Amino acid sequence: MKEYVYAPFADELRRLDATGSLRVLPEGAQEGKWITDSGHRMLNLSSNDYLGLAGDTALRDEFLNQTPPEAMRFSASSSRLLTGNFAEHRRLEQLLASLYGAEAAIVFSSGYHMNAGILPALADRRTLILADKLVHASLIDGLRLSAAKCLRFRHQDYDQLRALMERHHAAFDRTIIVTESVFSMDGDVARLQELVDMKHHFPGTLLYVDEAHAVGVRGRRGLGLAEEQACLDGVDILCGTFGKALASVGAFTVCRRVVRDYLVNRMRPLIFTTALPPVNMAWTRFVVERLTEFADRRERLAALSARLREAFARRGQAMPSESHIVPLVVGESSDAVRTAVRMQRLGFYVLPIRPPTVPEGTSRLRFSLTAALDAADVDRLTANLFTP
Ligand SMILES: *Cc1c(COP(=O)(O)O)cnc(C)c1O
Repeated sequence: MKEYVYAPFADELRRLDATGSLRVLPEGAQEGKWITDSGHRMLNLSSNDYLGLAGDTALRDEFLNQTPPEAMRFSASSSRLLTGNFAEHRRLEQLLASLYGAEAAIVFSSGYHMNAGILPALADRRTLILADKLVHASLIDGLRLSAAKCLRFRHQDYDQLRALMERHHAAFDRTIIVTESVFSMDGDVARLQELVDMKHHFPGTLLYVDEAHAVGVRGRRGLGLAEEQACLDGVDILCGTFGKALASVGAFTVCRRVVRDYLVNRMRPLIFTTALPPVNMAWTRFVVERLTEFADRRERLAALSARLREAFARRGQAMPSESHIVPLVVGESSDAVRTAVRMQRLGFYVLPIRPPTVPEGTSRLRFSLTAALDAADVDRLTANLFTP
């Protein structure tokens, strides 16, 4: 037998378990704002269905009723560069480009594909990438796979970014500044106009913004934080995902046409993967077409989020968040796990976030609110959380 081959994996899992860091795939059936695990019903406070659209069965039925069976193709059966490029892909891209007032848009299989693929395609040895310390793991993988020189600046520390620019910028042909707009773990928001100004100050600089948590949620029309901060024009590579507020799957970038054409030629996670199914593109387009109409949901989510942040702040919690992602930093992994388990028993489905997802010593409960909740839900949550 060759069981010894597996022994290191088992050892490592035991070690993770001992430090409260073992991950398992959670189970649970979802219905509206609820999630049920082994007959125990909990309020879902860990969903990315920010506008409550994925759980909205009336919206789904409306889509199904208006979509003819011939549009219900469940596989693209091929890469977009071969036979997988359907009219539905093009229609969605045209819609996105026109909404954002951009030259072009391009759709990807997921946000992970997008972020792991764009930087390696665009950046060569003569490129400098400056990325916020807290950007998403998919962007980190993109940095690692690229041939560029990569430097990270302290989270939202634009003075340090400027200093790095001054020191290194001139030695490279181009520079790409990479940030999220709403950050996934602290829920704080980037000051995009400052980055746009920085970009203009240093010629040959592109600004790459991942709006995964902001698309659908922020901005008057739900286009994201760049819309809200009135700097859509200043963002060169504006990235969004469909899997969160937009209740679908996949991701998109709005950019210059030349960038789109270049990615079609050079981006491996676009070229070497099967395109998203046409039925899925049709559903995404159905949702995106209604984005403006969901303003009431955006307002509701903003009000609920402010309510929760204020409740935490009143109890002396440092509160970095300015969004619907509201962390409660506990410190040690084991404490985060213990509190999460207690809250789950009480009927609040919240998950602990631990290293390596967040820095050591900042394990937390991460509440991500949705428009399906109401103020009473938030009040019950805080009441239970702070009862010893
Ligand atoms: C969720 C997320 C992604 C990944 O998107 P998927 O479509 O789920 O692969 C990328 N970037 C950020 C900031 C995210 O939060």
